[in-house]
Amino acid sequence: MGLLKVGKPLHWNDSLEHCHYIRRHGVLQFIATYRRLQHLENDRLFYGDEIEYALLKVDPASKRVRLSLRGPEVMETLRKQEQDMNAFRGCAWHQEYGSWMLEGTPSLPYGGYTMSLVSVEQNMRLRRGRLLTILAEDEIAPTLVTFPMMGVGDFVHPAAPPGGEASQSEFVPDTCINPHPRFGTLTGNIRRRRGSKVDIRVPLFKDVNTKEFESDTDPSIQMDCMAFGMGCCCLQVTFQASDMEESRLLYDQLAVLAPIMMALTAATPVVKGRLAASDVRWNIISQSVDDRTPAERGEGDFKAEPLMAGEGRRRQSKSRYDSISCYIHPGSKAYNDIPCEVDEEMDSVLYQEGIDEMLTRHISHLFTRDPLVVFEGHVELDDDKSTDHFESIQSTNWQTVRWKPPPIPSTACSPHIGWRTEFRSMEVQLTDFENAAFTAFIVIVTRAILVFNLTLLAPLSLVDDNMKRAHGVDAVRRSKFWFRKHILPDDTDEMMQNICPSQGPKGESKSSQFEEMTMDEIMNGKSCYFPGLVPLCYAYLEHIGCDENSFKRLDQYLKLIKDRATGELMTPATWMRNFVHAHKDYKMDSVVSETIAYDLVHACSDIGLGRRPCPELLGDVIIEPILKDGHYETPLFGEKLGSEDRRGLLQKIM
Ligand code: ADP
Ligand code: MG
Ligand code: MG
Ligand code: MG
Ligand code: MG
Ligand code: MG
Repeated sequence: MGLLKVGKPLHWNDSLEHCHYIRRHGVLQFIATYRRLQHLENDRLFYGDEIEYALLKVDPASKRVRLSLRGPEVMETLRKQEQDMNAFRGCAWHQEYGSWMLEGTPSLPYGGYTMSLVSVEQNMRLRRGRLLTILAEDEIAPTLVTFPMMGVGDFVHPAAPPGGEASQSEFVPDTCINPHPRFGTLTGNIRRRRGSKVDIRVPLFKDVNTKEFESDTDPSIQMDCMAFGMGCCCLQVTFQASDMEESRLLYDQLAVLAPIMMALTAATPVVKGRLAASDVRWNIISQSVDDRTPAERGEGDFKAEPLMAGEGRRRQSKSRYDSISCYIHPGSKAYNDIPCEVDEEMDSVLYQEGIDEMLTRHISHLFTRDPLVVFEGHVELDDDKSTDHFESIQSTNWQTVRWKPPPIPSTACSPHIGWRTEFRSMEVQLTDFENAAFTAFIVIVTRAILVFNLTLLAPLSLVDDNMKRAHGVDAVRRSKFWFRKHILPDDTDEMMQNICPSQGPKGESKSSQFEEMTMDEIMNGKSCYFPGLVPLCYAYLEHIGCDENSFKRLDQYLKLIKDRATGELMTPATWMRNFVHAHKDYKMDSVVSETIAYDLVHACSDIGLGRRPCPELLGDVIIEPILKDGHYETPLFGEKLGSEDRRGLLQKIM
């Protein structure tokens, strides 16, 4: 999550009077940044991943697993440990929404060498190892998107009754919310702005004995608070572009890949103790933070509130957690074919200040949303020295990709940070091998796009259609996805046409430039006019003359992607679904019981730690066990020895 200000966050009713000011000045802060940094150029590739972890408490005697609400405490300990190690290439630990959650990143972004792609996995393993050191004997921290028993009975430790001022949930206690005041306020204010509790529905999986399908009961899994969504763990990757233009280009290209990569990483088959008829988290989170009023949702009336954005009545076609509504690169304009609501006032401010049409649209779309957390006494700021209001809106527009302008350096020696693009749709995987493979793949794909001058662009209506398709059970094998047929630049494409003339010239009608492809075709290629993303990655590695050492591991990563796309390897969602179906306690009623959940989280934890092989997910790749002390490297310094110890040590080598 973004910045965490100190100070008292205001109740929705008290923040209302500041909403317009914050939105307007957020836009002015953006304009100031743009003016100052639009001409930055020749920045180097840097990139970094974010992985979210869930702390679980297990009780072997009763075969029960619950959330362990020690996130903030564990984070403090890890941060302290990190400081003491004084490691150059360590980890950084961040707050997350859930008080059982934790986010880990590398302490410094990775640099632009092939070896860095391999060190991603080492850093992820270091994080898992350090986390392991801190956990109590009865705790585990698997990388699972959802906790299977979330919202079922008494599922937290320490035990607490459901509900509380922030969420008013029927199922989840407010103690699940990170105690930093920002998070409770965020929860409460979303509910207050909306005018009711959030209403999350996920289709229930129909098995032979699923009782909901026997009667007229609503066959959906129902949830009522933000923790169900923001408690989902994911894998994100941020890239630094060489300049602003490149960051905008990559934003658009990656937006197309967002649904595809979400389907390929699917890992969310179990929700609130039930098997779902969907495989990914996205819609759960989207509904869990949907602060739109009934009028904005198009579902009813709302009395105009002049202090709210759009008076609370502007139709908003999407939740603030959703896929993007507009591309931002100047060359992508023709593909903006879905509703993209803008704030008229912010739109004209941006336009008058000389911001180009595409960016004006993007920013004035983000700024159709109200700030959700306003800090008392932190409203009037210097728009040239702070971007807090911009970040307040930006960081609560949770879209499939995020365009990140450079921050204002906090000190004179803060590292330089350029224009960045963040890829946000992937589901966290059980092992660091997979998490690293998907991170490396996305990095290589962006390099291939830039170097080969590819374009994956498709109309956003098709990208959104893909988002829907990506939710389906085993979408990788059962679904097709809209994809662009000709992704190579014209001259190269003509060459391909000659080899494969049946495909006709590129001038064909707009709709026939896109077709429904299988995941296998998208990743591995299709006849001779569509090369496939994985072969393009290999071509890129060949082009740069990738060193053999790095290539060995990268080859395994690309093979994972290839095999998952063909269906030879399972997604984690399919693997977990099979695990539930095969469990002796499963009654074919779509219920994931306490004991099934207990065994499932253990299996997932063990796979992540390299203690349980899993060829269905990994093929013949073996995960080296994660070491408890996390000692993968040793700092080159040591305590000075007293004379006795020194003599003892040196005697050994004499
Ligand atoms: P957020 O939560 O807002 O997305 P984080 O601070 O958690 O952002 O970090 C996102 C990732 O960006 C981390 O992996 C971090 O290492 C990486 N990162 C930091 N600086 C840069 C940079 N200059 N270029 C690219 N990535 C960076
Ligand atoms: Mg996070
Ligand atoms: Mg983060
Ligand atoms: Mg974040
Ligand atoms: Mg992030
Ligand atoms: Mg949008």
